[in-house]
Amino acid sequence: MPVQWQKPFQSIVAILITWAVGHLLALTDTFASTPLLDTLSLADLALLFARIAILALLLVLARQLQTVLPKNGKGSSFLRAVLTPLATLIILLTGQNVVLEVLDSFLSHSGEQILILCFWLAALGCTGWLIWRSYLHGPELVAGFIALGHRFSQTREALKTCPQCGAHLKEVANYCGYCGAPLTSNLDGVEATEPEGLQSDTQP
Ligand SMILES: [Zn+2]
Repeated sequence: MPVQWQKPFQSIVAILITWAVGHLLALTDTFASTPLLDTLSLADLALLFARIAILALLLVLARQLQTVLPKNGKGSSFLRAVLTPLATLIILLTGQNVVLEVLDSFLSHSGEQILILCFWLAALGCTGWLIWRSYLHGPELVAGFIALGHRFSQTREALKTCPQCGAHLKEVANYCGYCGAPLTSNLDGVEATEPEGLQSDTQP
């Protein structure tokens, strides 16, 4: 793995471990049956802490990916551009449940409604931000797809058919590996380039 990808990878591992441990703790019978507040058990609290940690780690991961992804004017640039609004939106949508769960015992019904409205407005703004960035960087995504299609067609072109036996061969081969027939177009290429190579070798 390239060195710069190590940190994002570490974050992903940490997210998975936090998720697994949180759920493991919540499964423990003694934790599940020990009430902390009237609505919250120790198991709920473990899950809650795990979720908060995961949300924080997600934010860290988004920042790390932004430094690692190259600005190539293609798909990677597009991903870079939409990463922050996308991560913020995910955190807002999942974090909303966490916050409401924590404040559930302290908030009145109208207080809860106001909080949900605030989250809704923030999510709406964030969606607008995401759409705007996607719009601005859309050409990069298109360029990425074109480059991908180009690479795919190049791999297809690299395969040619033997005129003698019809076997599929690599473009670079001079003779068919199945029947031994010379592949004329490749041999022409070799003849055209070889003298130049020999000349440059013999010159002092
Ligand atoms: Zn052949």
